[in-house]
Amino acid sequence: MKYIIFQFRNVLLTLLVVISIDVLGQTKPNILILATGGTIAGAAGSGVQSGYTSGQVTIDAMVNAVPDVLKVAKIKGEQISNVGSQDMSFDIMLKIAKRINEMANSNDVDGFVITHGTDTMEETAYFLNLVTKTDKPVVLVGSMRPSTAVSADGPLNLYNAIAVAGDPNAKGRGVVLVMNDWIHSAQSLTKVSTTAVQTFMSPLRGLIGVTSYGVNDFYRYPDQKFGNKSEFSVDGVTKLPRVDIIYADVDMPADLIDASVEHGAKGIVIAGVGNGNMPKAALEACARASKKGVIVVRSTRVATGTVGRNVECNDDELGLVASYNLNPQKSRILLSVALLKPRKLDEMQKIFIDY
Ligand code: ASP
Repeated sequence: MKYIIFQFRNVLLTLLVVISIDVLGQTKPNILILATGGTIAGAAGSGVQSGYTSGQVTIDAMVNAVPDVLKVAKIKGEQISNVGSQDMSFDIMLKIAKRINEMANSNDVDGFVITHGTDTMEETAYFLNLVTKTDKPVVLVGSMRPSTAVSADGPLNLYNAIAVAGDPNAKGRGVVLVMNDWIHSAQSLTKVSTTAVQTFMSPLRGLIGVTSYGVNDFYRYPDQKFGNKSEFSVDGVTKLPRVDIIYADVDMPADLIDASVEHGAKGIVIAGVGNGNMPKAALEACARASKKGVIVVRSTRVATGTVGRNVECNDDELGLVASYNLNPQKSRILLSVALLKPRKLDEMQKIFIDY
C-alpha cells in the first residue's frame, strides 16, 4: 500500500511539473523578429580581424547562437533583407513599417524585434517611431562585432532585445533600441563611436531604461509624439520625397544648396555649425530655396544641444525651419515623412517641435 501511495505521489508530482511547464509556456510572449542584416549578422575570416562582411548570417543562425531566448519567448522570424545598414533604403524601411502595422493587432505577436546594422539604425528607429501604429514594443538591436568575433556582442544584445520586446512594461514607450544593456528611445539615441561596443548614447533626454541579462528596468516614457499619436502614415506610400542633407563648414560653397534644388529636392536639411548656423551666402541660398517652395530645416553638426528659432538668423524673414531636438539624419527622416502631404511652413515648424 505504501508503495502504491508513493507511486501515486510521484505521478502527481510529475503531472504538476508538466502542467506548470505548460502554463509557463503559455505565458511566454510571442516575438516576431524581422531581420535586416548588419554586423549582428556579419561574419569574418577569423575572430580577431577588423575586416568583415555585414549581413552574412541568417535569422535562424542568430537565434541558434542564443538558445536561452527560447526559455523566455516564442520566436518567429522573417528575413526582410540581409544588408549592411549603409545599404538600408526607404524601400526596406517601408517594408518593415508595413509588416509591423500588418501584425500590430495580431494575437500571435506581443512584440517586435528588428535586427539591423548600427550605422543607420537611428534613421530606421526614428522612422518606425513616426509611422508604426502600435503600443506593442518595437525593439531594434544590432552589434558592433560580427558574429564570428572574439567576445561578439550580438548574442547577449539579441537576448536582451527579446526580453524587452516581451515585457508588458515596455508597451507605450515607442520604438526603442537595445544594445550593451541600455534601452534608448528612437527620439533620443545617436551613434557616437565608429568601433566601440558602447556606441549609442541618448544625449539631452536620457535613457528609457536599462536591461541586464533579460531583467529590465524602465525609467521614463518619451514625451514627444509617436506611434498611435503620430499623424503620419505610410499606408499606400511606395516612395518618399527627396530630402538632401548639406554639411556646413568654414567657407562652404553655397551653390550646393542651389544644386540640390535643381536636382529636385523637396526638402533640405543643413547640418549647420553651432546653433544651426551657416555662412551668409549659404543662408541666402536657403532663402532662395524656401521661396521656391523647398522646405529648409536648420539642424546642427554638433553632437548635443537644440537648434532654436530666430537665434542668430531670422528664420521668419528667411522662411526657414529650426530642427530643435533633431540631428540632421533624423531631421531628414521627419521632413521626408512630413512632405508626404503639402504643409505650410508654420505647420512644418510645429511638427519639428512636436516630434
Ligand atoms: N556597417 C555595419 C552596418 O551598419 C555596422 C554595424 O552593424 O555595426 O550594417
